[in-house]
Amino acid sequence: MKRITVFDTTLRDGEQEIGAAMNIHEKVAIARSLERLGVDVIEAGFPIASGIDFQAVSQIAAGASCVVCALARAKEEDITKAAEALKNAKNPRIHIFLATSDLHLTHKLRITRDAAVERAISSVKLAKKFTSDIQFSFEDATRSDLDFLRQMTRTVIGAGALTVNVPDTVGFLLPEETAAIFGAITDAAEEKAAVSAHTHNDLGLATANVISAIEAGATQFEATINGIGERAGNAALEEIAMIIAAKFDGRFCTGINTRLLSVVSDEVSRITAIPKAPNKAIVGENAFSHGSGIHQDGVVKCAGTYEIFPPCKVGRSALRIVLTRHSGTGAVRHVLKEMGIELSAANFDALFSRFMERAEKVKIISPQMLRNLAVSLR
Ligand code: MN
Repeated sequence: MKRITVFDTTLRDGEQEIGAAMNIHEKVAIARSLERLGVDVIEAGFPIASGIDFQAVSQIAAGASCVVCALARAKEEDITKAAEALKNAKNPRIHIFLATSDLHLTHKLRITRDAAVERAISSVKLAKKFTSDIQFSFEDATRSDLDFLRQMTRTVIGAGALTVNVPDTVGFLLPEETAAIFGAITDAAEEKAAVSAHTHNDLGLATANVISAIEAGATQFEATINGIGERAGNAALEEIAMIIAAKFDGRFCTGINTRLLSVVSDEVSRITAIPKAPNKAIVGENAFSHGSGIHQDGVVKCAGTYEIFPPCKVGRSALRIVLTRHSGTGAVRHVLKEMGIELSAANFDALFSRFMERAEKVKIISPQMLRNLAVSLR
């Protein structure tokens, strides 16, 4: 079974979502939860970017036993600042990034490919003076010339990088395109370094692309809790962790304790003040709720009829029946039974017709409302 490294970037890329900026105290609290959740690497911030980032990285580094990572451009001042922030880390990682697409090299950095190669080598060598754990990211990798990407992969590994990260910075790949790139980069890396996937959700494919990358040879993925991040966000950690647990059991595994996913998801949502969509996969409020009569009847009899895994696997309470006008007699009976209310057949029929009248007026009938209806019949 292949152990996949989980690299969480909620505190760096996730925090780049509009309105998600956190203070030091909040970042430290989330880092503690991430470590309990079982992530392997916490990307704690971008130390050169701000004093808050520097302080947060340094406080998180001082308290964590997992790998703590700091981001740096391929520049001397960024790398030394990252190293300084990681000074007290048990397991420090410096994460250097440099664009490799001609678009970024020409228009943003205004340097040649040869200059990029030189800059990559010198920055990895500098970072090596502070820690052996160096990760190198090729920004806009997925729109870069594939031969150049292969060359850069061999170059940074030769200089000493232990992980090469291939970001789909603008979220434009299809899963099959992702598989082709990761097949090529995995070959170029020749098992001398880990290959990592970093995807974005601009086309709603962030999770699918990570899964494709893993199947094509990636051994690390980067994601955020609730998929928060720039624009349409990053890949959602909880989705990938559950896909690996539910679909790839025996082939791949992670160190994530999936039972903590819901509580960590709620904490990140509360701290960032970014609400989750009710139908968000895995951690949405309604992700394990059943509304239609046929589905409610099925899950009351056997939860597996409409649930792909028990909600307790992600730390949710069992079977959530929400009574609406779509509900049938089976669901209403189930909720009554849960509340310890027994009715004669005639009373149940009367209750059910009152329930329907009421449900047509209000969208959801709470257990309390149902109890009141039942009590009025006695
Ligand atoms: Mn990103």
